[in-house]
Amino acid sequence: MKYIDEYRDAESAKRYSDLIHSITTSPWAIMEVCGGQTHAIVKYGIDELLPKGVTLLHGPGCPVCVTPVELIDKALEIASRPGVIFCSFGDMLRVPGTKGDLFSVKAKGADIRIVYSPLDTLKIARENPSKEVVFFAVGFETTAPATAMTVNQASKMDIKNFSILVSHVLVPPALEAILSSHNNNVKGFLAAGHVCTIMGYTEYEPIVEKYHVPIVVTGFEPLDILQGIYMCVKQLEEARAEVENQYTRSVIRVGNQAAQDIIREVFEIIPRKWRGIGEISASGLGLRNEYASFDAERQFGITEYSCEESSECISGLVLKGVKKPHECEAFGGRCTPEHPLGATMVSSEGACAAYYRYRNTSLKK
Ligand code: SF4
Repeated sequence: MKYIDEYRDAESAKRYSDLIHSITTSPWAIMEVCGGQTHAIVKYGIDELLPKGVTLLHGPGCPVCVTPVELIDKALEIASRPGVIFCSFGDMLRVPGTKGDLFSVKAKGADIRIVYSPLDTLKIARENPSKEVVFFAVGFETTAPATAMTVNQASKMDIKNFSILVSHVLVPPALEAILSSHNNNVKGFLAAGHVCTIMGYTEYEPIVEKYHVPIVVTGFEPLDILQGIYMCVKQLEEARAEVENQYTRSVIRVGNQAAQDIIREVFEIIPRKWRGIGEISASGLGLRNEYASFDAERQFGITEYSCEESSECISGLVLKGVKKPHECEAFGGRCTPEHPLGATMVSSEGACAAYYRYRNTSLKK
């Protein structure tokens, strides 16, 4: 298969669905890690093609959704300061903190700009030497190399009016946190293909061994996901637990070494708080001491913050696969994409937003 339509072919999807039905003898709960996969599953009704006992749980792999509310509040505070140009990917602007979102700060006059690459922010910094330019560095291992490259370039070019507010997180520690939690339901994972394009999949091998769960590196198109589910169910039915690679057109076992090198050059591994989940040890990236002058939290003196999540929002349980979005009391009533209470309703990759957009309107309250 070479082109996108082939990955959405209905006949092939039916064949995979039949194959999954033919090998399934027991109920299995499989978590797709990435929000992009969740979006495709709900949009194309992939879960409705599966045997009744095979349940897909939606994982924590939506970077917007897991950025903690404290970081959003810090972004709001920095962006509000005079003389600051605050740069962000567009989907972060509507994520609610405790005192509004970046759009509301922009409406009050703050200079907030949407960028498509962190490298764009260096151009903005050079063109505005009298301003402090801050980039909101959000995302998993997929976006971390571009952030690292930007900081590395800023250092080499001696750009002094640039810093980053870091919220990069790592997938493998989140999988371990889910597997070791008391209410874990997950029996197998579809790992996120784009993360593994960068990192490879050697990091998953000890997890598979320790917890005896299959992990299948999987792409994002409907046939990728169906094939990944088939490979995962086959392992479960055969009592095997291995790392397998469905996404061979993009992923090799060792990943992209150059991208990993630049991440290691600029960042070190630190504990990070995940929105709705809490702190996970060794699950985030922070700037190394050599690059500390680019740390916006230090630059602006706002390292200590603590905030309360909305008490109604159960996105932590959704992100751990314990609840489905429509099981939340607020879903579709008090919480909608226009008036989100939690981050999983904001991002197009959020499970709550995907259910709201594509699922039967009777789910909406
Ligand atoms: S529907 Fe809204 S309030 Fe409920 S879990 Fe999702 S984001 Fe949170």
